[in-house]
Amino acid sequence: MDNENSRRDFIKKSAALTLGAIAATAVVNKTLAATEFIEKEILADGAVKFNLPKLPYEYDALEPHIDKLTMEIHHDKHHQAYVTNLNKALETIDPNVLKNISSLDDIFGMMDKMPVAVRNNAGGHSNHSLFWTLMKPHGGGIPTDKLAEAINATYGSFEEFKKQFADAAMKRFGSGWAWLVVNKGKLSIGSTANQDNPSMHLDALEIKGTPVLALDVWEHAYYLKNQNRRADYINSFWNVVNWETANNLFTSAK
Ligand code: MN
Repeated sequence: MDNENSRRDFIKKSAALTLGAIAATAVVNKTLAATEFIEKEILADGAVKFNLPKLPYEYDALEPHIDKLTMEIHHDKHHQAYVTNLNKALETIDPNVLKNISSLDDIFGMMDKMPVAVRNNAGGHSNHSLFWTLMKPHGGGIPTDKLAEAINATYGSFEEFKKQFADAAMKRFGSGWAWLVVNKGKLSIGSTANQDNPSMHLDALEIKGTPVLALDVWEHAYYLKNQNRRADYINSFWNVVNWETANNLFTSAK
């Protein structure tokens, strides 16, 4: 029993330690750390099973900018489906490879060797877990601290940054994500298709680096409230951004 308990403790601790940039957020931002929302269990055979994290606020907390029904369906149905399908997809992985996987970071690090179902669903799970923490009730405003300095140094002003980020989000054809990432201290804006994440180990990614800000531009993220008007949804996003989380992701990635 003692062994089992200490193993569980170790798993809990390593869950916090193996998530790279996201883990560092947990240390400095106890209320909104992304790691607290990426939950997993290690099964008896050593395989990992991921669980749906709870939203860090109520479903209606982002009203009127992001509506309650969208948040319910987005979290409980869409995000849950990525978790369920990731666990199913991992069952198809060679046990010799699987035994080396204990985190999403591990999966991202060998993504070029993974089947597409793992790529889509590990991405979906990670991206949504991060996305929830990058929003908060009464959020928005302007970036803070070191991130504010870096945005101003890179883009000249917050307004110019917003314009370029919104442009990336608008121009993503079909489903995907807009990103602000940091790579070797340098910020860049771009987008990825489907559920790809800029920190996946893949040659073909259009943007690479550690995510600092993420915006889901799949229609499921906005269609109930905004229908085809993606631009309105992007404008709403600026009212709920959690700049503290973004700053923590930025400073811990450098
Ligand atoms: Mn989504």
